[in-house]
Amino acid sequence: MQTPSKSNKPTTGTNLEHARMHNRRVVLEAIRQAGRLTRADLTRLTSLTAQTISNIVAELIGEAKLSAHAPEKTARGQPPIPLSINPDGGFSIGFHVEQHQIVAVLLDLKGVTRGRQVFAVSYPTFAEALPLLLRSIEAFRRDVAGKPMLGIGIALPGPFGVEGMSAVGPTSMPGWDDAQSLAVLRQMTQLPVLMENDATAAAMGERLYGAAGGLRDFAYLFIGHGLGAGFYLDNRLYSGHWRNAGEIGHVIVIPNGKPCYCGKQGCLERYVSGASLLEHLGVGADQDLADLDLTERKHAAGIERWLAEAVPALRQAISLLESLLDPETVLVGGTLSNDILGRLVEESAPLFPSVSVRVERQQERVQLCTAGHDCVALGAAALVVLAELSPDYHALLKD
Ligand SMILES: [Zn+2]
Repeated sequence: MQTPSKSNKPTTGTNLEHARMHNRRVVLEAIRQAGRLTRADLTRLTSLTAQTISNIVAELIGEAKLSAHAPEKTARGQPPIPLSINPDGGFSIGFHVEQHQIVAVLLDLKGVTRGRQVFAVSYPTFAEALPLLLRSIEAFRRDVAGKPMLGIGIALPGPFGVEGMSAVGPTSMPGWDDAQSLAVLRQMTQLPVLMENDATAAAMGERLYGAAGGLRDFAYLFIGHGLGAGFYLDNRLYSGHWRNAGEIGHVIVIPNGKPCYCGKQGCLERYVSGASLLEHLGVGADQDLADLDLTERKHAAGIERWLAEAVPALRQAISLLESLLDPETVLVGGTLSNDILGRLVEESAPLFPSVSVRVERQQERVQLCTAGHDCVALGAAALVVLAELSPDYHALLKD
């Protein structure tokens, strides 16, 4: 029997330390969202007592997580002091590990990118990538010497820990998701380390930096070398009991369709993925799509053939996501070029009729992501920062 990734801690019951940490995050989150707030604003917004706010603010200023600004002028009484997040109050590192590339970003407490590195790799195992990760972490730490480093977030293609299915083939990256790997990195860096699948991290990145800003319910279809979906539901990430929610690449969309590495036929990922595009271009599915110039004339026919197969399969995927989740929108993004992703989204119209056809819609049913190609690494780093800032941190972090 497999052990659930989440611990079975009771959901009720608390203690003073837990309440204190929760209140700190409530205060930090309120300031993060508003930009600047005074103690009086915080008391009003959080329903905490003035004394509690005063204590927490003093503590956070002491830790340099908050900055106090020049008092606002008032006609009478004590002038209120605006408070903001100190960007240098904490940093986090995000890695997006792909089949052919590792992107690393350094994020400050306000969520601004302060450093970026890219490494070319080829299906690295954890052991092979470890020296690169350590070198990158060390360089970022030097850049922010003396300032607190909150932790490391690693995002990579799923599925995680699935026996006998899909841990083979050109879109998988087996061997990363074992507790031993994370323990090694934690021990060598003395930092908290979390791991998440790329589509979930991308959903977080898009929520913070892209087209999903302000949305409460969306699905993110992440088209990388393979395919996965990330879910942001009821204003928080949902990644499943074993962090494999959204692993829809191996859902059969074309009965008796193309043979798949997982042993089935007609899986979604065989039509909608970077690997499937490579096949249509006459290149091995384990090659790096980034090595090809897709604007070259010789690739045009292959791209059209791929689109002709990918678009109907994408419609099925969208229909599935809409029916299951009733989202505000489905975002399409990933590591393919914006031109290709744009055509995929454009040509997916008309979509199948579904529960998402409503006159009062605010968003298009399908939209192209806008957070850019660092979205996953940013999302991974942001998960670490949010663990510090968000009262819902337990929903964002896995044990
Ligand atoms: Zn399959």
